[in-house]
Amino acid sequence: MRVSRGKGSGSDDRLFTVVVEGFGVGQQRRAERRITVPFQQLQTLIQSIARNGGRILVVSADAVPDGPISQAPAIPSAVAEGPAETAAGQVSTNPTPTPKTATVSHAAVPVNLYKPKDPFIGTVVDNYSLLAEGAIGRVNHITFDLAGGNPQLHYVEGQSIGIIPDGADAAGKPHKLRLYSIASTRHGDNMAGSTVSLCVRQLEYEKDGQTIYGVCSSFLCDIKPGDKVKITGPVGKEMLLPEDEEANVIMLATGTGIAPMRTYLRRMFEPSERDKNGWHFRGKAWLFMGAPKTANLLYDDDFNHYQSQYPDNFRYTKAISREQQNSKGGRMYIQDRVLEHAEEIFSWIENPQTHVYMCGLRGMEPGIDEAMTAAAAAKGLDWSELRPQLKKAERWHVETY
Ligand code: NAP
Repeated sequence: MRVSRGKGSGSDDRLFTVVVEGFGVGQQRRAERRITVPFQQLQTLIQSIARNGGRILVVSADAVPDGPISQAPAIPSAVAEGPAETAAGQVSTNPTPTPKTATVSHAAVPVNLYKPKDPFIGTVVDNYSLLAEGAIGRVNHITFDLAGGNPQLHYVEGQSIGIIPDGADAAGKPHKLRLYSIASTRHGDNMAGSTVSLCVRQLEYEKDGQTIYGVCSSFLCDIKPGDKVKITGPVGKEMLLPEDEEANVIMLATGTGIAPMRTYLRRMFEPSERDKNGWHFRGKAWLFMGAPKTANLLYDDDFNHYQSQYPDNFRYTKAISREQQNSKGGRMYIQDRVLEHAEEIFSWIENPQTHVYMCGLRGMEPGIDEAMTAAAAAKGLDWSELRPQLKKAERWHVETY
């Protein structure tokens, strides 16, 4: 790597050009790229390149802007796509928009404040059905009051908590904890910062001709306001949101796998949440949601509302398996929707500011890989090589069961 000394004045309005290889995704990664940033963003860019396995060839301070460096506008009509690529595959020196890789901060993420041996005792505040008339099964939104703990039980978007149901197992031992993805932002649904909400489906299956109901999911769907519940955690760093306000976020959810996506979307688009969190999302978000029937769609009114309020920043695509058919005449699953939009999704993924989050049934994963394999191959790229790179760059987030 060669680092040239700039001829600039040393003041903060200097622009620096970084020549890098092996940085970005797909064609970007293969090409040598020139990226120009203001001095204040140079260190962040260099750290991103190092974290993502790129190699810096040259850093030079040789461009000084005439005026102040322009700032990105609040909620642009379209997401900043990063610097414009020239025909030669190089990056133009226009300082706006600033290229950034989407990184996820693990700093200050609380983990295991309460453990199974000494859980926090939360109080049920609310427990109501999320399903409309005619839906299959039982799915509830359940909120617990977390006030009064020492330490205070707090969490961030994308984490999970553990619930230890009351009672004992067949051997007479206390039940073990079950993990549930948190469905509320760190501020809670009431913005007071002292509640947590879950989205729980009652597990139900047939065994030896009998209907079996899940121990913990039944416990949770049946509890009433005022009841006390043993809570552990929080845990999890896989599904954290990037700090980048211009990140693009693709969300793939089936059923109650919508829980973390609800937290992201509230953080991005819910007015009271935006006022409070000071995180002014300006990127693009695209939710793919899989449910068996329209009546089983979860938080659907909220998501439709966000789409009407932020049409340039939020897309919402549904796969209603028992009401819609895929191109082969089978049930419409989320991976079929991904296949329909594969080329566009892949072009989003080629932008280093894009993150993909997947939560729900493990069965969706092979189909999503197939769709991405075809989209990558159309550009002469190998998805089996790209996916690990995205994972390593902390841009591919999966929590499936
Ligand atoms: P569900 O309502 O039973 O199913 C959601 C949708 O997924 C339905 O439309 C279903 O279609 C469809 N589906 C079934 N098999 C599929 C496959 N192979 N590929 C794609 N879609 C498929 O979902 P749920 O009971 O809420 O379950 C969600 C799952 O997510 C559970 O396994 C739960 O444990 C898990 N989960 C995980 C997390 C996490 O990772 N942190 C959080 C919450 C939930 P049909 O039924 O019509 O076939």
